[in-house]
Amino acid sequence: MTTTDPNCIFCKIVSGEIPSTKVYEDADVVCFKDLEPKAPVHVLAVPKEHYSNIVELSANKDLLAAVVKAAGAVAKEQAQGEFRFIFNTGESAGQSVFHVHGHILAGTPQSEGDL
Ligand code: ADP
Repeated sequence: MTTTDPNCIFCKIVSGEIPSTKVYEDADVVCFKDLEPKAPVHVLAVPKEHYSNIVELSANKDLLAAVVKAAGAVAKEQAQGEFRFIFNTGESAGQSVFHVHGHILAGTPQSEGDL
């Protein structure tokens, strides 16, 4: 299985080749601040291995669970543990980076349909 993609921007963030503001890191997952925040708390939770979307990631249940756990830890620290967790999946659904990432969003009341 391919675990990194040399052309992937988030693989480059994981490796440190592209800078980011990391707020959480463990052996399997990194969480960093979104470059263009849409809410007071807007952090991306990313597995270090390259999977293109959350459906692909679901083949690796332990890693999927690790991403959720990391998001919970970030939200506990930054938003009293309450957050929205959004995975845009596919181009027509708004996915622009094809390395799976969950948007951790908090700090603003949201209505359904918002990112
Ligand atoms: P969209 O761009 O429509 O939100 P995605 O769901 O694929 O699509 O989200 C990609 C996210 O990655 C965007 O919120 C974007 O601001 C963020 N992003 C892109 N490049 C970087 C980067 N170098 N560092 C941090 N966040 C980034």
